[in-house]
Amino acid sequence: MGAFNTLVLEQTCPACGRRIELGIQFKYGDTWPYEYSLGDLVRWGGNDIGRPGQKHVVVDGIAEHCSACDHELPDYEVHIENDRIARAVPQAGRYDFAAGGDTFIVLDE
Ligand SMILES: [Zn+2]
Repeated sequence: MGAFNTLVLEQTCPACGRRIELGIQFKYGDTWPYEYSLGDLVRWGGNDIGRPGQKHVVVDGIAEHCSACDHELPDYEVHIENDRIARAVPQAGRYDFAAGGDTFIVLDE
């Protein structure tokens, strides 16, 4: 239901130019209020979404507002490779999560 994980990314806010710790909410793995950084392994074994061990999955990431100026940041694609959070980049329309009706798309099993 409401539970989600948060990836914390160091980013520069495009509006105010400050370095911020941006929270990106995503639902994959054990959805629980876990906080992750880039390079972390996704945890499993609870309220799981998806399946462990996929080679490459892209997950819909909802960015929180800038903590300094409250600017609304774009959504992110969170790339998870072999259960490791490999990178996160702003979404540019490459993946249509709504069409699949899921919070993630498996690119390579
Ligand atoms: Zn800002």
